[in-house]
Amino acid sequence: MSTNIDTIRADFPILSQTVYGKPLVYLDNGATTQKPQVVIDTLIRMYSEMNANIHRGVHFLSEQATRQYEEARNTVRDFIHAAYSQEIIFTSGATAGINAIAFSYGERFIRPGDDVLLTTMEHHSNIVPWQMMCARKQARLKVIPISEQGELILEEFARLLSPRTRIVALTHVSNTLGTINPVEQVIRMAHLAGAHVLVDGAQAVQHMPVDVQKLDCDFYVFSGHKLFGPTGTGVLYGKSSLLNELPPYQGGGDMVDCVRFEGTTYNELPFKFEAGTSNYVDATALQSAIKYVSAIGMEQIAAYETSLMHYAREQLQTVPGIRMYGTAPLKTAVFSFVLGDHHPYDVGMILDKMGIAVRTGTHCTQPLMDFLGITGTIRASFALYNTFEEVDQLVAGLHRAGSMLQ
Ligand code: PLP
Repeated sequence: MSTNIDTIRADFPILSQTVYGKPLVYLDNGATTQKPQVVIDTLIRMYSEMNANIHRGVHFLSEQATRQYEEARNTVRDFIHAAYSQEIIFTSGATAGINAIAFSYGERFIRPGDDVLLTTMEHHSNIVPWQMMCARKQARLKVIPISEQGELILEEFARLLSPRTRIVALTHVSNTLGTINPVEQVIRMAHLAGAHVLVDGAQAVQHMPVDVQKLDCDFYVFSGHKLFGPTGTGVLYGKSSLLNELPPYQGGGDMVDCVRFEGTTYNELPFKFEAGTSNYVDATALQSAIKYVSAIGMEQIAAYETSLMHYAREQLQTVPGIRMYGTAPLKTAVFSFVLGDHHPYDVGMILDKMGIAVRTGTHCTQPLMDFLGITGTIRASFALYNTFEEVDQLVAGLHRAGSMLQ
């Protein structure tokens, strides 16, 4: 990266902490990322200078907050290269975006006997909402299998596609395996079969440039808190032609045009999908996070993290008894592994005492664990502020944990 790693780390106050007297090595970025000072400052500035409910007030503060919120929307539009601001809907996270589409799309397009396609590696957030919709609409859920390496088997996908396939919902990057899926190809194949595609970008937008127009996806969702922004933020992108056809997901203020007891007409996009008081404060802080990573450059971040991934992959192999899951050549710096027969939790606890934060368990991908025939893994997930030295610390920590658990 052209920006110095020490400069980047200094932007994140939490990273200078010690844990049990050891410098914090934060490798749980797949769960949530830390926040740079600009994001924290924005939250303070919004509440100290600009807080008023948006869209409804005629007064100065409300107009300022409204303008700020809509500017945040424009920033998101540019970040994912959407064609129009109205295609950007603020949500509370990736989960909320998927639920909104599973419900609204289901109401509009799904008939009994239709197929919804997912993949083996989906997060529960991209499984359960579709199961609920399929149960409601008597539709069928089908699963695109993956290889031992953790890659989609595209020939199987081609076989599953049929005139009954309405929508394919898949993750851009696996939160457990790190696999970067060939989403562009999947989208092309799905469109040729007449199906729509939702891409879950929760593990992608913080690691690589994303261009929704180039991908040609119909829907794209992500979480703000995994992109260095505040919790309780997320984005649902949808092609306006499609979003216009969908019924609203939730009713309430702001999403309406005219309300009578006899019936209600709805507001235009994006407000039709933003019922109630929007999270304008956190959306503005998410804008700061996006400006922050954009200033460093998503291409640069991707290149840096790829070199970190290659180094970590090589170094982790030196740990006795390590068994890796997710060995696709095209992957992000996310490593899932087990250490001999030791329970992932025990390894995670020992690493924690060394100041190294990893996650253990199923990572909200139980069907993937079933496929792998395991009950859980240790997961180390890196972000732009992690260093090569931290890879060494993780590897040393695993060597030590391995010998302590003998
Ligand atoms: N999809 C993927 C791939 C994820 O990794 C996650 C969170 O870990 C989600 C969806 C859900 O994100 P959130 O809990 O922020 O809604």
